Amino acid sequence: MNAIPIANARLVVVDDDPLLLSMATRTLRHAGFDVSAHASGEEALAAIAEQPIDLLLLDVMMPGIDGFETCRRLRMLPQGAHLPVLMLTGLDDTESIEQAFGSGATDFITKPINWTLLAQRVRYALRASAAAESVRHSRERLARAQRLAAMGNWTLQADGSMQASEELLHLFDGPPGIAPNALAEALLTSVWPADAAALRGARQRLVAQQQPYQLEYRIQRADGQQRVLFEQAEAITDSSGQPLRAEGITQDITERVQARERIRQLANHDETTGLPNQQFFGELTRPLIERARRFGTRCAVLHADIDDFKSVNDAFGHSVGDGVLRTVAQRLQQWIRSSDVAAVTNFSPPRTEPGVLARYGGNAFTLLITDLPGQAEAAAVCQRLLAMLGEPIALEGLSLSLTTSIGIAFFPTDAADIAGLTRCAEQALYAAKTAGRARYHFFDAHMNADAAQRLHRVSELRGAITQGQLLLHYQPKIDTDTGALQGAEALVRWQHPSRGLVAPGEFIALAEESGLILPLTDWVLDSVCRQLRAWADSGLACPPLSVNLSAASLGRGGLVDQLDKLMVAHGLRPEQLVLEVTESMLIQEIEATIAILAALRARGYGLSLDDFGTGYSSLSQLKRLPIDELKIDRSFVVDAAGPGRDGPLVSAIIAMGRELGLKVVAEGVESTAQSQFLQGRGCHLQQGYLFSRPLPVADFEALLRRSA
Ligand code: C2E
Ligand code: CA
Ligand code: CA
Repeated sequence: MNAIPIANARLVVVDDDPLLLSMATRTLRHAGFDVSAHASGEEALAAIAEQPIDLLLLDVMMPGIDGFETCRRLRMLPQGAHLPVLMLTGLDDTESIEQAFGSGATDFITKPINWTLLAQRVRYALRASAAAESVRHSRERLARAQRLAAMGNWTLQADGSMQASEELLHLFDGPPGIAPNALAEALLTSVWPADAAALRGARQRLVAQQQPYQLEYRIQRADGQQRVLFEQAEAITDSSGQPLRAEGITQDITERVQARERIRQLANHDETTGLPNQQFFGELTRPLIERARRFGTRCAVLHADIDDFKSVNDAFGHSVGDGVLRTVAQRLQQWIRSSDVAAVTNFSPPRTEPGVLARYGGNAFTLLITDLPGQAEAAAVCQRLLAMLGEPIALEGLSLSLTTSIGIAFFPTDAADIAGLTRCAEQALYAAKTAGRARYHFFDAHMNADAAQRLHRVSELRGAITQGQLLLHYQPKIDTDTGALQGAEALVRWQHPSRGLVAPGEFIALAEESGLILPLTDWVLDSVCRQLRAWADSGLACPPLSVNLSAASLGRGGLVDQLDKLMVAHGLRPEQLVLEVTESMLIQEIEATIAILAALRARGYGLSLDDFGTGYSSLSQLKRLPIDELKIDRSFVVDAAGPGRDGPLVSAIIAMGRELGLKVVAEGVESTAQSQFLQGRGCHLQQGYLFSRPLPVADFEALLRRSA
């Protein structure tokens, strides 16, 4: 209706008096309205039902249904509910006028009709109706918007009475029909007791001091649902600043709060274990450290790391690995909540937990234990932890017995904040690992120096690889039956600018830990191939050369390609190279490792199983390995000729190797007794100081010339 200009509005005039009807029609048409005239109420209702109109002029007294009844029926029609109706009544007929309003009329016009004013009255009624309609519309829009936003609005008077929108009552699932003076209190009964006082206080300050507020509070609705509401309110004052009332909006933000919580959970927690992550650990522990600082108490950060976790992952897959992490997390969590902790620490209720637990990436867990007075108590804690984490873990039909290493740092002696404590605990953990794992280690100030030195050594070693400070020695492998040179093992050395010639025992482990073993191995392979080419070019016959491979080089992928390229680049045959791998490489990703070895073997590279007897490979595994040589570890050879068990053991290894069709090499042969014992058992391939130390290139070259 708003859209229709008042001038073109469609009117219906109803009167049984034909003269009046035609006068009215003419007058109104003259004023620009679209008018249809009817002589009875029934006729008019039928017409309106068919085509909606904008205003009805209705005579009261008519035969058939009168104006009152017509109006009543009109109001029942969907088109008629809000239609402006002007009733034509007698001048002083107050009773009719009242009855007209009673039957739903909008206004009345008295007879006799003032024709000059009629059009004005109609225009006014149309305008008023349009305004009412627009208010109705915006109210509906507001209600719809409130429903959609789950938001209600309300006003609060100084006397405490409250008017609320329908949606507000809906939010509270409140019973309808509560009197305004009781409404505010009635709604407050749904608010959680913990939040009610704050809300009450905020509302009081709002009414008494015109202090606006924003507040989140929780409610328990009549239907049992718990919801979170957000409320914002302010005081409305008149132009002179006198408070009139307070107005507020209240919104149901339960879903938003849940989403916020979920995001917080995701951002702050580790997905696998559900424990706080490193960053969140920092947040959680800061107040505890602050507290310890204030009260002058000590606390400790424990860094616990599952030993050899990578092997678990490699051997049994990530689902088992994750299962282990979850189990460890659960055990730690249960333990930290148990009275066991309180028994060894100074911890006393009422604080809920004596520590905070977090996952620190990889396979490490970090704990902050509050009120840990000293090393004795920390040692007790660690012993319990080690025992507890050492209990077998049953997963997917497996029973895994794992060990853990722990590093400990104290506040305030070792570091003054959580970042520093964690760093110190990490260094202590590293010390526990190097000391042989499955143990705990306290941080001490030397470790800072150690760590710095280690860093220095890593960068030094990196430089050594790129700056040509590495060199190779070659140790002959002899056939004791004939005395012939059967091969040689390339062994790396580091010509250190100040320390002189450094043995690999001093830097291979560092290279493995730092990842430098990859470029180091690349360098060795490249040098050996270059050397083979050089000797071949100078007409020297050289037996196959052995190179020690690290697990990392084998696991990196691309090894087969890398070697193929070297063969092509230097014009060599794979048979000229023997790759020594250790048993320990075989416990990780056994299938993948076997596949790589098989590919190497198929190309013709020699494959030797180094340090045999020190690892864990089972006989059934050994049978499947595509190798062609077995090197009996030096430790067995030392006492082989003695009275102990090593003799029979070595004999068994030799017999087994021969059974499997493998060449068996004894390494570390230092005495004739050892050599003869081995030879007597059928092991005639030997390597050791008895025959030769690892030789510098020039010396080995001389040997090659002599044996040619
Ligand atoms: P390995 O592979 O078991 O090498 C044999 C080691 O035993 C060499 O020590 C050798 O000098 C030593 N040896 C040989 N004969 C005797 C003997 O009769 N008595 C005694 N007591 N020792 C003997 P080296 O050269 O110090 O190498 C130590 C280890 O360093 C090697 O053990 C190997 O695991 C590693 N290594 C050496 N060079 C390389 C390399 O190029 N790459 C990799 N990944 N590791 C290497
Ligand atoms: Ca070796
Ligand atoms: Ca060896």
